Amino acid sequence: TTTLGRIFDLTVAKYPNKEALYDVRKDLRLTYKEWSIEVNKLANALLQEGVRKGDRVSTYLFNTEELATAYFACAKIGAVFNPINFRLMAEEVAFILDDAEPKVVLFEKMLASSIEPIHHRFQQTAFWSIDEDTLSYAASYKEKVAAAPNKEIEANIDENDIYAIMYTSGTTGRPKGVIHKHRDMVEQSLIVIACTKVVSEDVGLVTAPMFHCAELHCAFLPRVHMGAKNVILHHFDPKGVLTLIEQEKITKFFAAPTMWNMILQEDLSAYNLESLKLGLYGAAPMAPTLVYACQDRLGVSLVQAYGMTEMGPAITFLSENDQIRKAGSAGQACLNHEIRIVRPNENGPSDPDDIVPTGETGEILVKGPCMMSGYFNREEATAKAMYKGWYHSGDIGYLDEEGYLWVKDRVDDMIISGGENIYPREVEDVLYGHDGVLDVAVIGMPDDRWGETVTAFVVKKNPSLTEQELDEFCKNSDELANYKRPRKYIFCDVLPRNASGKIQKFILRKQLEV
Ligand code: AMP
Ligand code: MG
Repeated sequence: TTTLGRIFDLTVAKYPNKEALYDVRKDLRLTYKEWSIEVNKLANALLQEGVRKGDRVSTYLFNTEELATAYFACAKIGAVFNPINFRLMAEEVAFILDDAEPKVVLFEKMLASSIEPIHHRFQQTAFWSIDEDTLSYAASYKEKVAAAPNKEIEANIDENDIYAIMYTSGTTGRPKGVIHKHRDMVEQSLIVIACTKVVSEDVGLVTAPMFHCAELHCAFLPRVHMGAKNVILHHFDPKGVLTLIEQEKITKFFAAPTMWNMILQEDLSAYNLESLKLGLYGAAPMAPTLVYACQDRLGVSLVQAYGMTEMGPAITFLSENDQIRKAGSAGQACLNHEIRIVRPNENGPSDPDDIVPTGETGEILVKGPCMMSGYFNREEATAKAMYKGWYHSGDIGYLDEEGYLWVKDRVDDMIISGGENIYPREVEDVLYGHDGVLDVAVIGMPDDRWGETVTAFVVKKNPSLTEQELDEFCKNSDELANYKRPRKYIFCDVLPRNASGKIQKFILRKQLEV
């Protein structure tokens, strides 16, 4: 049975002396053999703390060697890995600790202000700090690991055992813990290896948050699986990314659309980016104009992934060769995945058999080998999400004649104006094409006459940009019907985004209420 612990051990046996990790902040380099010693010691330290198969271990960390090590240490002892979003604040973290009830939480100093006020509410949980400073309420990760033996783990872990609980970013509502088995991730890793052509010679840059499935499962894990190297950047910073590409000769990395956009704002001529072979984007929609700009200005081939935490996450890929021909599409279903577009049902989960004709828009349902087992402690939400064996994505889209998926938007973000359905993404994609626009989000503003009116929040690249200019631009666009044209523009300095790069439209809607 193929578990994540086993694929790690196999890679170590195959490439003991190959560089596996480079933690940039600590300036620490580890070969696979050296890393496996760290993994075994942490696994033993967790066992000594009383962690047993099925127990949860949480991380509240930026991108660090310790997060990477905990990932495989948990896998080897059958502990359930629970990476917590480092952007969450104290009470949001407490919500997850209440739900997941971890035995151990690994955290770092930069995030201690969110642990400090809540740790006393979790008497059954041990808090381990990965930094040197002593905290009265936390044990030292270093000391725990130093005191643990480097002996092989003899655990009986099956591929159908639970590997992780990952809380979804929750752009709305309470976060839900997505349960995945080892087998789900082995399959996902193989799919990503095939679709992004991962090889052992790859040098990957980890810069998107590792607590999120896009980085963890679609970039970091497949590279370990293949025996490639991971360069770990503590958190995203565009200059850091460009410097590391040159210095470490990075071949591949994943970044969310907003990160690609920030990278493009830098002086690219100052860096040698020749090593770069492939960039992966996804987790949120990326405007075709931004894709073209990345290809032209960074000279990199791009692949898009579309998916969601619940599905492992990737369910479609748009290959390098399709970036222009199928610009705006999310690509074709992954290996062993099946997609259906069905008529949305307003009163409950939509019926998987109520399939709409090719080319018609509906809810995206999906089935595949990496599908979650369900949400932790949330039977009702699980039953709805996995109704009749199909995962109900809550995304709207259509399949074209060639089987390519076009994701239009979230069901909840659709604007209805004068009885017409408008997908904000179409409007955003057009506005992104204007030179003076750096970032944009479109929402519906409640309106007595039209129901909702299209409203665009715009971050200017060019300070002299005016509302009239944007309105003219939309009027002249042959991609935007008159009724879809924004009737109001709101200029702002920055758009609220979550850690995986998705715009938090509920915050913008709230802003309109006051
Ligand atoms: P999460 O599970 O938090 O990563 O969120 C999944 C959601 O992100 C999906 O349901 C989509 O709405 C959105 N998403 C992910 N990838 C893409 C993509 N390539 N294009 C458009 N939206 C995406
Ligand atoms: Mg989600």
